[in-house]
Amino acid sequence: MNKPSILPPQTIGIIGGGQLGRMMAISARYMGYRVIVLDPTPDCPCAQVSDEQIVKQYDDMDGIRMLTEKSDVVTYEFENVDLAAASYIEKQGKLPQGAYPLEVTQNREKEKTLMKEAGLPVPTFFIVRDEAECIEACKNITYPAVIKTCRGGYDGKGQVKLESADEQDTAIAFTKKYGYCIIEEWVSFDKEISVVFTRSQSDNGEAKIAFFPIPENEHKDHILYKSTVPADISDVVEGKAKEAATLLAEKMDIVGTFAIEMFVVGDDIYVNEMAPRPHNSGHYTIEGCNVSQFDEHVRAVFGLPLIPIHLQSPAMMVNILGEDMENTLTSMPKSNVGHVHLYGKKDIKPKRKMGHITFTGNTLEQLKVDLKHFKENGMDQGRGQNND
Ligand code: AMP
Repeated sequence: MNKPSILPPQTIGIIGGGQLGRMMAISARYMGYRVIVLDPTPDCPCAQVSDEQIVKQYDDMDGIRMLTEKSDVVTYEFENVDLAAASYIEKQGKLPQGAYPLEVTQNREKEKTLMKEAGLPVPTFFIVRDEAECIEACKNITYPAVIKTCRGGYDGKGQVKLESADEQDTAIAFTKKYGYCIIEEWVSFDKEISVVFTRSQSDNGEAKIAFFPIPENEHKDHILYKSTVPADISDVVEGKAKEAATLLAEKMDIVGTFAIEMFVVGDDIYVNEMAPRPHNSGHYTIEGCNVSQFDEHVRAVFGLPLIPIHLQSPAMMVNILGEDMENTLTSMPKSNVGHVHLYGKKDIKPKRKMGHITFTGNTLEQLKVDLKHFKENGMDQGRGQNND
């Protein structure tokens, strides 16, 4: 049965107060909703733009109960939400996304198994829990390969590439350290893309899906560096990518914004991993599209109809890591291109995502020039009024 829409000024509770929570909160506040965030760090990025913060650990049941009580709807900004907490909120009827997508996406074994059983192409993989299983997998896998923790890894943390069978000892040491791992074949892809979409329940109870234009993603050291839209992919790849996403969305009965990362090889795709939330590769939608991945997420969880999505102009999003902060602040006063977003994180650390910058314009060529100028500490003669 479909629930009635929840209208402003009702309250959204967000588990996790990082940049994704912050951008969700900003969308919710534009619309007139109130926002409460649960995060152990006082004045975290999301708290800075919220009405209230509950300063408790994500799995603290007192904190979860308090958040649920004060909220009309609860969402999350990351997949590693405690499952007992998620089930509790779901039972209170306040978690439209449900606990199931979390259960799948916080465990690479469940995630890859679901994709494989859905008949989708995934790299060949083996699950290993101890030295003997690791040795067996190292014998059977084709190299290069990669070993990853089944739980908890992100941004390249918790994974090591294995170039050849000579690196079996590295794989064994990794397995001993983490205990529950996946070894998968390395795909020599032409490019990486992600399908970011939002799924909602319409008035008549039918699920509706709205796709954002597919970004092409470039990683450095396993961390997203740049997303470019439109992606340079064939119609065949786009069709396969959206078909795979629709299948997975229906299987998991997704509500909200969801992202699936894929590798492209020729006209084929391999599904890599899924995120049950807005995604870094979808940040470009804030300026690049008529409606952002955060706006649509908020609409979906409050039971509002989704806005049909279109690209306003080509867009290029580049992450700002700790090591880029100084350069960014030097360039900002000199640059009239690029929308800078900084997340308000207090500790600046190398490789930590501190913000992002989105360039929009008529052509991707122009955006590359703008990025270069920005990186070179801003433009001396800015882009004129009429030539962008
Ligand atoms: P993941 O945490 O699985 O998203 O991995 C982070 C990044 O590492 C991916 O976006 C790829 O750039 C790279 N990567 C991970 N797994 C593979 C693979 N099986 N083949 C090729 N590249 C991979």
